[in-house]
Amino acid sequence: MQIKYDFHSHSTASDGTLTPSRLVARAADMGVHVLALTDHDTLEGLEEARQAALEHDIRIVTGAEISVTWNGQTVHIVALGIDPANQGLGTGLQKLVEYRHWRAAEIGRRLEKHGISGAHEGAVALSNGRLVSRTHFARFLVGAGEARDMRDCFKRFLVRGRPGHVSGEWATLEEALGWIYDAGGHAVIAHPARYGMTRTKLRRLIGEFQELGGEAIEVVSGSHSKDECYTMARHAKDFDLHASTGSDFHTPENQWVELGRLMPLPVGCKPVWELLEA
Ligand code: AMP
Ligand code: MN
Ligand code: MN
Ligand code: MN
Repeated sequence: MQIKYDFHSHSTASDGTLTPSRLVARAADMGVHVLALTDHDTLEGLEEARQAALEHDIRIVTGAEISVTWNGQTVHIVALGIDPANQGLGTGLQKLVEYRHWRAAEIGRRLEKHGISGAHEGAVALSNGRLVSRTHFARFLVGAGEARDMRDCFKRFLVRGRPGHVSGEWATLEEALGWIYDAGGHAVIAHPARYGMTRTKLRRLIGEFQELGGEAIEVVSGSHSKDECYTMARHAKDFDLHASTGSDFHTPENQWVELGRLMPLPVGCKPVWELLEA
């Protein structure tokens, strides 16, 4: 039997809309055998996911998607197989969550100046007391009729040059990889085709990541086109890195991205699960 892996997903612990239990149940329904829960900058959903997995035919890989600033740009690093009790990792992520709280208030102030009131309170309410992400702002703004849909909302309010944009001040690549390896995990560059980098710049990122101990890149991603998957497979082979696969599922409301609905890793890729099983 072919084992189905999905190594990138979100729950209500960050900006997903399903609780960890419901996420795990849905993944099992979709035929996923091994699921990594990789919430942004937090491990809070992992214990509930582990408990839920006991009731389904599914295994949970502990994970997180760590926000990093590299060369003035935000890059996401997926951590897999980390020990959730590790102190260094916990303290590092806590700093990012605190920055998120400050940033959320700042986004609110900037939108206020732009004539949109109540966005901070609205985003916080949608986050259910967990960390606040731009996704919560976008959900609030779409609900308030300020934008047609999520994509339109990001484009109009939340990206560089727009009224609600605040430059990220996240972990350095070195810090993030340090935390991951201290916690016994493996580091993966998330959705490398999403950063809008030139080929040269992306390869510089991959090179620095590898020098710091990074072992894998997401080759197959719910946010990559088929062509982008093949291009990323090429980079993985050139650098002799492992290849990961993940939907980046956030919500059943996005009909384009579903748990476990991923093309197979291109031929010749070294699957990242070999690292986890080793
Ligand atoms: P943050 O980490 O709070 O800056 O928020 C980043 C999150 O926003 C990503 O993980 C995505 O879930 C979401 N996001 C970014 N760009 C878009 C977009 N164009 N449409 C919908 N969601 C987006
Ligand atoms: Mn997200
Ligand atoms: Mn991401
Ligand atoms: Mn993600």
